[in-house]
Amino acid sequence: MEKISLKNNPKPLLEEKILDWSSVQTSFEKSFGTEIFSSWLKNLRLVKEYNDYVILGVETRFFRDWITSRYADKILGELKKHKLSLNRIEFKIEPENKSAKNLFADSKENKITDIKDSILNYNRLNPNLTFENFIIGKSNNIGFLSAKKICTQLSRYNPLFIYGGVGLGKTHLLNAVGLELSAENKVMFISAERFMYQFIKSIKKNEMVNFKDFFRKANVFIIDDIQFIRGKEGLQEEFFHTFNTLFDQSSQIVISSDRAPNKLDRVQERIKSRLSGGLVVDIGAPDYELKLKILRKKISDYQNSFKESPDLQEEVIEYIANNSNSNIRELIGIFNRVVAFGKMSKKPLNINDCKIILKDVYNSNRVISIDKIQTVTSNFFSISLADMLSPRRSRPLARPRQIAMYLAKKFTSRSLPEIGRKFANRDHTTVIHAVKTIDKLLNNNDEIKKNVEELKSLILSD
Ligand code: ADP
Ligand code: MG
Repeated sequence: MEKISLKNNPKPLLEEKILDWSSVQTSFEKSFGTEIFSSWLKNLRLVKEYNDYVILGVETRFFRDWITSRYADKILGELKKHKLSLNRIEFKIEPENKSAKNLFADSKENKITDIKDSILNYNRLNPNLTFENFIIGKSNNIGFLSAKKICTQLSRYNPLFIYGGVGLGKTHLLNAVGLELSAENKVMFISAERFMYQFIKSIKKNEMVNFKDFFRKANVFIIDDIQFIRGKEGLQEEFFHTFNTLFDQSSQIVISSDRAPNKLDRVQERIKSRLSGGLVVDIGAPDYELKLKILRKKISDYQNSFKESPDLQEEVIEYIANNSNSNIRELIGIFNRVVAFGKMSKKPLNINDCKIILKDVYNSNRVISIDKIQTVTSNFFSISLADMLSPRRSRPLARPRQIAMYLAKKFTSRSLPEIGRKFANRDHTTVIHAVKTIDKLLNNNDEIKKNVEELKSLILSD
């Protein structure tokens, strides 16, 4: 008998490269988003690959610490999708190739252009986020007026500090200030995270002088999401000096934050006092009136750009304003979804449809089971579950059965064969037939339509 010796095999998989790094990078970008990817992960290199771990190259210690503390788990998760056997990552600090660096590090002007280009790529002002497009209500009126004010009286209120929760319009206002002033001023608009990235990059490339020059040339300096500097000493140090220089030369500084200056824990006291030394205003959650106004504006924007009405009944608009959370970004998201649904189903939406869409938005993790759909449907038609699942074909049983299959297809992510199995082992073609039949009936049978609507809201309401 032939003897197979595993021992003598030279560890076949060790160091065998399976990972296709460029597709790994593509998946990083997808799952982390472009901002994080390009700031932190783009330059990760695959140094060595083993069966159960990889060594990734990073440019500096700082990058390594940053990536390990924030992204390592997720990076491993992503890598596992490409190679299941991995269970560990190691980082190796590999300073960038010197000769490559020299290529574009010759003159000071070049370096500034380098900083400038990379900032411009990420910090273009969004032409749509203007003052005109900013709808005013009780919660944001003061923020709006203050932002307007500084545009007419530069550095009268310095800095302007706008704070409030997510999705309430801070970035929009900052952007509007930038747009308003950019014609006649040197405006710098940057997120604190990007500022930090630029800062690190400049240290690494020995270009701090240029970094300082570049930022301090602005006479309007707008920095978004300053809470990002919490706990980052080096960054705070640099920010403090940038701030002081700008302030001393009377540049207008505009800052946004998710909380008030005095609530910025792990930020140096001297910075906090600088931040609160000008005008501090907060943006609050929108009330019903403001949400309504924003929805109406969205409707008219829609009409203007598509030359047709989004077909939303008054009661639907009111329903959305009443039942959405206090987050304007989310409100707009819901609006877009409702309009898209309306277009797809080719009929004006009613409140029930809206309920479903909102539920879907807020409970996207919620799983609706086929069991639940079956129970609710059989109860609704006052038949027993056993009868509904039975082979009998009489209409009072067959119709509810078809409706339940239809709802299972619409509300769950189960495949047709899976749904079939749940209906007493029916074939998937039976499910297809049911879905088609009900789809058709919804168009020409008001009774069925009404039943399905009611069932939908029963299934979603609990
Ligand atoms: P934040 O920076 O506070 O998280 P954003 O400024 O990004 O919020 O606003 C989220 C979305 O809501 C953006 O699309 C913005 O244009 C919109 N938005 C916020 N407030 C208003 C408003 N008052 N009027 C019109 N759109 C608004
Ligand atoms: Mg923002």
